Amino acid sequence: MTKINVNDMLTSYDKKNLTIATVCSHSSLQIFNGAKKEGFKTLGISVGEQKKIYDAFPLGKPDDFFVVDSYKDIVKYAGELQEKNVIVIPHGSFVEYLGAEKFLTLNLPTFGNRNVLIWESDRNKERIWLEGADLTMPQEIKDPRDIDKPVIVKYHGAKGGKGFFIAKTYDEFLKRVKKNKSYSIQEFVLGTRYYIHYFYSPIQDNAYKLSKGSLQLLSMDRRDETTIDEVQRLGSIQELEELGIHPTFVVTGNIPIVIRESLLPKVFKMGEAVVEKSLELFGGVIGSFCLESVVTENLEFKVFEISARIVAGTNPYISGSPYSEFIQPDLSTGRRIAQEIKYATKQKVLDKILT
Ligand code: AMP
Repeated sequence: MTKINVNDMLTSYDKKNLTIATVCSHSSLQIFNGAKKEGFKTLGISVGEQKKIYDAFPLGKPDDFFVVDSYKDIVKYAGELQEKNVIVIPHGSFVEYLGAEKFLTLNLPTFGNRNVLIWESDRNKERIWLEGADLTMPQEIKDPRDIDKPVIVKYHGAKGGKGFFIAKTYDEFLKRVKKNKSYSIQEFVLGTRYYIHYFYSPIQDNAYKLSKGSLQLLSMDRRDETTIDEVQRLGSIQELEELGIHPTFVVTGNIPIVIRESLLPKVFKMGEAVVEKSLELFGGVIGSFCLESVVTENLEFKVFEISARIVAGTNPYISGSPYSEFIQPDLSTGRRIAQEIKYATKQKVLDKILT
């Protein structure tokens, strides 16, 4: 649990002069663009020359850069960043580069509930949370000798699906598995993938109402994964496996998508249940989160993962999505985050959305 008291940090802040900061990667162009649209100052934390690409995107470029030798150094400069009234917007790469432990102790007001990390990064805890919310997850196979249908083997801590593999039998599993790494085995769910981007506000009641606050659906995407998504160009998976070519699940990009409208009630019910359970378990998943799901031929959702902050799948929607356009024109997730900070500042409830 984070031992940091956000109110202590905020006492020294000039609330009329807040700066939205994030690490220059992942969804940073969107975060800076959204923050600027809402009138915030912006700061990009970058390592060396990475900042150069922002010259090509003036509307996604932060007002200033804070250059560090290594992302892990951010912790050292927390005092300096506090003087700039910095509020940090974490994204997947931010947490990865900094490391979970340092992220939890980073002495800067951070959007969302940092304690969610403990529930999201441990696969057992994640299952307790999501199944506790009555979501259906892919079956877990504890003993590889029980593999009697296609499974996906995931290495713990592997980023972007690296090294994941499919096995259809115990023998196939034995041939491919790297024994020195810890892994989990899940039923491979056949269906179509939807990565659903929600926004939960504990302080505003102007959307799909929950026991406390309300929920919005901002967008959804499908990840583009190499090589699995294109491997059929070369032949059937079986043919290729025989040649020793195995599909991989490395994320390279994101594709916009909408879901059939009749499934929206289920989409909201899942989001609602996840938030309500999170309020019970650790004080709530605040702000953006994403449920990664497969919809089966029986139109059932199987949720294989949750990401509890802005996901890169929101990047196709800088000027709104087929869902956010029904909330407000030009509403990206980055902009929605900035709006929440603006609203909380006005209502003097920043401590309800920052940790
Ligand atoms: P993850 O790191 O859990 O997000 O998984 C990486 C990728 O593997 C996903 O984006 C999916 O394409 C695929 N995947 C993960 N779990 C499953 C599953 N249980 N069934 C089918 N595909 C899966």
